[in-house]
Amino acid sequence: MFFRKLNNSDLWNKIKILREYIKELVPAFKERTCWSCGKSLNIYDFLSDNLEFSPEQILELWQNPILEFHCCECFKYLKRDELSNVDLQNTNRYCKNCHKLMNIYQFAKSYNYLKINELKDIWLKENSVIFCSGFCEKYYYRIKKRKK
Ligand SMILES: [Zn+2]
Ligand SMILES: [Zn+2]
Repeated sequence: MFFRKLNNSDLWNKIKILREYIKELVPAFKERTCWSCGKSLNIYDFLSDNLEFSPEQILELWQNPILEFHCCECFKYLKRDELSNVDLQNTNRYCKNCHKLMNIYQFAKSYNYLKINELKDIWLKENSVIFCSGFCEKYYYRIKKRKK
């Protein structure tokens, strides 16, 4: 569960591949709008927000008739609502690396690629290892590896 940073050329390659797929697919290619606010959505934004997926997977998700999509803003509010329950609020967790006290919102922000249920599971599990940032996570595992 690492935060993977891809460089721009990887993203560019993925965009090119996706563009070819879409060309073949038209007119079956879906026009998507945000399920909450109706703003029209762009598949390339969706790709760049979800770089852990391949272009094939992105297209499959996009075309899936049972999935509803949200724009970034609506998604943020949606997540905020779901994170505001009391169980999650009353837990204090510390970054395993720098020992900073964290709240659930900071955690959700650092791990924004996780789904709500995954966030909750990790946050509420007493002995799960969490980090305040991708930097702390990388640093912690690098040091740990060295000690072995
Ligand atoms: Zn929206
Ligand atoms: Zn930290």
